[in-house]
Amino acid sequence: MDFDPPETVRPLLEKIEKFIADIVMPAETDVLEHGFAASTTRLGELRAQVKAAGMWAPQLPKDIGGLGLSLVEHGLVSERLGRSPIGHYVFGAQAPDAGNAEILHKFGTAEQKATWLEPLARGDIRSCFSMTEPENPGSNPTLLSCQARRDGDHYVIDGHKWFTTAADGAAFAIVMAVTNPEASPHARASMIIVPTSTPGFELVRNIKIMGDPGSGYGSHAEIWYRGARVPVENRLGPEGAGFLIAQERLGPGRIHHCMRWIGICERVFDLMCSHITRRKIDDEKTLSSRQIAQAWVAEARAEINASRLMVLHAAWTIEKKGFDRARDEVSVIKFYVADVMLRLVDRAIQLHGALGITSDTILSHYYVHERGARIYDGPDEVHKMVVAKRILARYGAERDRR
Ligand SMILES: Cc1cc2nc3c(=O)[nH]c(=O)nc-3n(C[C@H](O)[C@H](O)[C@H](O)COP(=O)(O)OP(=O)(O)OC[C@H]3O[C@@H](n4cnc5c(N)ncnc54)[C@H](O)[C@@H]3O)c2cc1C
Repeated sequence: MDFDPPETVRPLLEKIEKFIADIVMPAETDVLEHGFAASTTRLGELRAQVKAAGMWAPQLPKDIGGLGLSLVEHGLVSERLGRSPIGHYVFGAQAPDAGNAEILHKFGTAEQKATWLEPLARGDIRSCFSMTEPENPGSNPTLLSCQARRDGDHYVIDGHKWFTTAADGAAFAIVMAVTNPEASPHARASMIIVPTSTPGFELVRNIKIMGDPGSGYGSHAEIWYRGARVPVENRLGPEGAGFLIAQERLGPGRIHHCMRWIGICERVFDLMCSHITRRKIDDEKTLSSRQIAQAWVAEARAEINASRLMVLHAAWTIEKKGFDRARDEVSVIKFYVADVMLRLVDRAIQLHGALGITSDTILSHYYVHERGARIYDGPDEVHKMVVAKRILARYGAERDRR
């Protein structure tokens, strides 16, 4: 077993690491201070540099302008991009566009690809994914209220959504709506492409996240679809296949997120170790001489290393054996790595003292904007329940029919 990154991507990984450290990280403070919408020009310049250096869209297939990396390879890239909160965006690998591009590539018609996928892959437009509803549990998305009623050659969409990430400034939304209310729960919904210019697409607000509404790509919107009418040709895949297609996004999407979180962990670990080796607690000693700080450093190192191995193994399993065989592993990494990251961010803040909650370091940004990691793409509790049930079934536990 070879634990070195594959020879094929090693030079790319080194190039990306250098670009993130030398070019992206120095630019990030300004972007975070002024917001994504006000930073469009600067971000566009950075993207142009990434394209010129041949590093654009590592996760996309080559036929649409990406680097065509495998899931394991892109996982390694994602960790490096994750060292900056703007890394994925600058490289054209940001959620939800990455997932939307993936499903458009797999299920889109030639016309959908020409109209939406190609400009999305080039980074000329952005997109969003609109499934969660304030009135219904997102953790059980079969309970959707949003309806897409067939009217001749059109769908008419009515529904209330929220937490549609990056809707502000997006060119289109992929909306999950009930098209077949009489079908079984997992066959009721379809994915439908709705241009945000469609009459009836109403962006109500960017929801404040712990006080910050964000802007542009860095925001989460509440949206009403009020009689939004789109041609039937805007449906992605067969009618009623919404959940099947959603499954396609989940495996790779969780690998990308988890590796991004490991990038965050490494950055926070660096900050924590640098700070405690400089911060004096008396005339002679620094914080690093204290056992509690040492324990947190050692525990963090162990947890980050474990996380990386677990995520890369899950990616490898998806690649070699298919998503079905990797289900448990993907659930395990989702709650485990999110927990490792958030505990580390909290401890790093604690060791920074008052400085930790200011915006003078990146820690407070992570504290606010990464807390959602334990909620989106399946809350911790749901993943733990799913994994435990499957394990316990092998020990003969009775099946829960709910
Ligand atoms: C930062 C962020 C970005 C997001 N981006 C998007 C997006 O782009 N598009 C989109 O459609 N949605 C998005 N979401 C929404 C996300 O998918 C939902 O928040 C998630 O599915 C949970 O649904 P909910 O918030 O309705 O919580 P609920 O389903 O109401 O659950 C609330 C809590 O109950 C507990 N719980 C739920 N079910 C169980 C169970 N079976 N057993 C035990 N405990 C349980 C969990 O602790 C859970 O956190 C985003 C969310 C966040 C935080």
